[in-house]
Amino acid sequence: MMKIPFLDLGRQYADLHNEVDVAIKQVIADNAFVGGRYVDEFEHAFARFCGARHCVGVANGTDALFLALRGLGVGPGDEVIVPAFTFIASAEAVTLCGAKVVFADVDPSTYTLDVKSLSARITPATRAVVPVHLYGQPANMDGIMEVAARHGLVVVEDAAQAHGAAYNGRTVGSMGHAGCFSFYPGKNLGAYGDGGAVVTNDDKLARAVRQIANHGRSDKYNHDIEGVNSRLDGLQAAILSVKLARLLDWNAARRAHAGSYTASLSGTGVVTPMDVPGTVPVYHLYVIRTRAEARGQLIAFLQSHGISTGIHYPVALPNLRAYSYLEHSPGDFPEATRAAAEVLSLPMFAELTDEELGHVCNRLSEFASSQSVAQINA
Ligand SMILES: *Cc1c(COP(=O)(O)O)cnc(C)c1O
Repeated sequence: MMKIPFLDLGRQYADLHNEVDVAIKQVIADNAFVGGRYVDEFEHAFARFCGARHCVGVANGTDALFLALRGLGVGPGDEVIVPAFTFIASAEAVTLCGAKVVFADVDPSTYTLDVKSLSARITPATRAVVPVHLYGQPANMDGIMEVAARHGLVVVEDAAQAHGAAYNGRTVGSMGHAGCFSFYPGKNLGAYGDGGAVVTNDDKLARAVRQIANHGRSDKYNHDIEGVNSRLDGLQAAILSVKLARLLDWNAARRAHAGSYTASLSGTGVVTPMDVPGTVPVYHLYVIRTRAEARGQLIAFLQSHGISTGIHYPVALPNLRAYSYLEHSPGDFPEATRAAAEVLSLPMFAELTDEELGHVCNRLSEFASSQSVAQINA
């Protein structure tokens, strides 16, 4: 039986191993382990890629969000609005800088921050908003920036799933006061370990993030403030530079795969990702939705045909035990709660073959035709 993994990083390495192995050897020969020219080179290349003036490499995506918020002066007494449906790191970063997490609901067709819900959650204590470009789909940045400007909020984009996605001609991460990226291995641009970056057009913020991330240093043993240790290492930076040169091609392959899935699912009752005019999504994940009752059956059916799937994410953040202190009930965020019960992520990575895509599409059609549209339709 054909086995189709959810993600196979081995295939990418098989394509790149010559360049990656040379890059690793160079970093070791140069003793450029922390900071140094490989980090500088990657930071310049990634800033250019995002259309931003600055890029500061940091240890991971969670730290990127925390450092951007802290660098913008967000701290105790402040409230920060985060979508109720995202990975927990989007909210953890707020707590890490001492501010209070305030959730807002998501738009059911894009799974990104709902602008009406955002407006409704603003109080005099609100200082910032963290739109998340979930699954590689750009959030409604025009609407969010307009509300933020009206209320004097800073905007920190969580672009951890959206390297290279575009919104009305602008690359995500470059529209807010800061854009935050993760280079966790499975992301569209992934290191061989943890890594992250903050991009910004604000010179002062770039300096602040760099200083906080490096023990608050002004020079080697002079420290203006207490910071943290959150730096991108040379090995990861050198590997990321090799991979960055391929990212546009990989993103294009993901979009083509998404097109195949969407075409083969039309008319089946399975809800496919929305194509928002003016955006170029990068399909970190290809997420369908079905009625909650059908989802379990579909997962088991695909698994029985060797096809792995995932759920991103099975519990909306306000419904997690970690946020029970906010005393929400599932009805407070109906769209996030419902999405958590209905979404299903199909295999998605650039190296999927036509044969594999065909197999997944055929099995999906087979499942759909064994059910009525009403049984499946979410
Ligand atoms: C991966 C991810 C993060 C955190 O990145 P790490 O590098 O794992 O710390 C933050 N937000 C979202 C939406 C993510 O997917």
